[in-house]
Amino acid sequence: NDQIILKNRPKGKPSEDNFELQEIETGKPKAGEVLLESKYISVDPYLRGRMRDEESYIEPFKVEEPIESMIVAEVTDSRNPNFSKGDHVIGMLDWKKLQINSGENLRKVDKSLAPLSAYLGVLGLTGLTAFLALDKIGDLKSGETLLVSGAAGAVGSIVGQIGKIKKCRVVGIAGSDEKIEHIRNRFGFDAGINYKDTKDMTKAIAEACPDGVDVYFDNVGGEILDAALQNINKAARIINCGAISIYNSTEVPMGPRPEGILIKKSALMQGFLVRDHIKDYERAIQELAGWLKEGKLTYDETIIEGFDKTPKAFIQLFEGRNIGKMLVKV
Ligand code: NDP
Repeated sequence: NDQIILKNRPKGKPSEDNFELQEIETGKPKAGEVLLESKYISVDPYLRGRMRDEESYIEPFKVEEPIESMIVAEVTDSRNPNFSKGDHVIGMLDWKKLQINSGENLRKVDKSLAPLSAYLGVLGLTGLTAFLALDKIGDLKSGETLLVSGAAGAVGSIVGQIGKIKKCRVVGIAGSDEKIEHIRNRFGFDAGINYKDTKDMTKAIAEACPDGVDVYFDNVGGEILDAALQNINKAARIINCGAISIYNSTEVPMGPRPEGILIKKSALMQGFLVRDHIKDYERAIQELAGWLKEGKLTYDETIIEGFDKTPKAFIQLFEGRNIGKMLVKV
């Protein structure tokens, strides 16, 4: 059996030296426990925050201990009456090929309803984030303009498609011309901006959003957020979902102050954490699964093969190497 631990805390952008692959013994499940074999591992930008030794909404990883993230696993041995051999489950699990678990925080997933990997993306936390942040804060109305950053990513690509379902003009911001092509052709975005190739983002957003921005779904923070704010309409809603552009910052990033514009536009800017809305998960999954079935919603995955590649897959999120949900197939 193998596990991956946090070897030391990254300074700036994470590197493979921050992680270590180790061989371990597994043992056998005791009464009430299950033995799990990892199938798909989710790598997510927020894990970077847990690698810092600071207080947050979720406790930091400990050095020399395994990283954990959402994992889909197969039950290969069970001494827990709630699970049988062959069941597939999802949970916050250690980066281990095999592990023993109490079963307390595992949820069964149905392989016949959707591919296993979908439970880590469109029907998992990233799909829920897209749906619930729009539901709770976005309040999209037909004909409005929705701007989304990280638009080719797991959350952003679902946000854009929900915008189209709600009959909005949808504009995406992403890091390459290929990604912009992709979000337009595959996900139906009306326009896109390659931020890596754009000097004046404020102007580019103004051109792509001739009627201004009613809802800005922010996955990246930093200078792209600054530019988006310059283009908001009266009573705009700004959803602070993520800020990947500053996750590796070693100093507190500075920028223009937002209060003037928020007052002038009576705009709402609100942080969003999907885990605050657990009671809405079931409703959101029903809606997302319904759209998938009707063909109104689709999704992409970038799947890296091999357990030992998990740190690399995580690091590649910060290089924009993924389209849609980044996953590791064990
Ligand atoms: P993505 O699939 O969007 O992957 C990350 C993407 O971020 C990359 O593909 C890359 O695309 C882009 N990116 C990387 N570095 C930068 C940068 N410096 N500036 C701009 N873009 C960058 O990840 P997720 O969909 O899983 O997550 C998206 C955001 O949502 C993250 O910020 C994450 O933390 C947040 N999130 C928040 C949740 C919540 O409850 N609040 C829950 C889940 C996610 P590109 O090529 O375009 O640069």
